[in-house]
Amino acid sequence: MKYKAFHKLSYGLYIIATESNVTDLYYIGNTAFQVTAEPSQIAISSHKKNFTTEKILESGIFSISVLKKEVNTSLIGEFGFMSGADFDKFRNVKTIKSVSGAPIITDSSVAWFDCKVVNSVDVGSHMLIIGEVLDSEVLSGDEPLTYDYYREKYKMLAPKNAPTYIEKEKLENEVVPESESKPEINEEHEHVYNKENGTYTCSICGFQYDPEEGDPSSGIPPGTPFEDLPEDYKCPICNAGKDYFKRD
Ligand code: FE
Repeated sequence: MKYKAFHKLSYGLYIIATESNVTDLYYIGNTAFQVTAEPSQIAISSHKKNFTTEKILESGIFSISVLKKEVNTSLIGEFGFMSGADFDKFRNVKTIKSVSGAPIITDSSVAWFDCKVVNSVDVGSHMLIIGEVLDSEVLSGDEPLTYDYYREKYKMLAPKNAPTYIEKEKLENEVVPESESKPEINEEHEHVYNKENGTYTCSICGFQYDPEEGDPSSGIPPGTPFEDLPEDYKCPICNAGKDYFKRD
């Protein structure tokens, strides 16, 4: 089996949310896909250890906000890597309430769906949850974020709770044919898998710091070695400190 083959499956990136009696809850997921047209039904695959999963099954409702391509990375950090049990993830985003009561993120999304749970299937580590679409809307003409774009731009690996998670070591050991349309070396991939260029990876979220590129979002110019980053440098995705970075 070739693990890199799984990276050839195409996905988007979504905020899946629900309402509970304590606080609104949500997580970032890449698995949301339409399963039938009549009625319109969408399935999500949600980790059993994810607090939001339990609440979706309890409330019987969930919403899907389709993230835009140029989304603020700190949003992905807060929604993707911090537990909703710890703090109110909604404090920094604009939301509206759907008919079902599930919150919808409006300022980072191009469209949304409001769903009622009609079925769920235990698939081991995850629950496959099927929802009937009650309502949907298009918010902007911007391009939606694809999982591939996110992975390449931010050199991220899926978090461990994602249904598409693959251990980094398994990917590194695989050799795959080079792209026919791009015979030259794909530099983005070279950075991810080259251990000799002083890259460091955040152990919380998987963000990779590459000294050749620096971190323009944090004001770090290209060519800055990890060792020269200021002591208060924080991961641009999850806000973890330098101590959480490990050399690749
Ligand atoms: Fe991080």
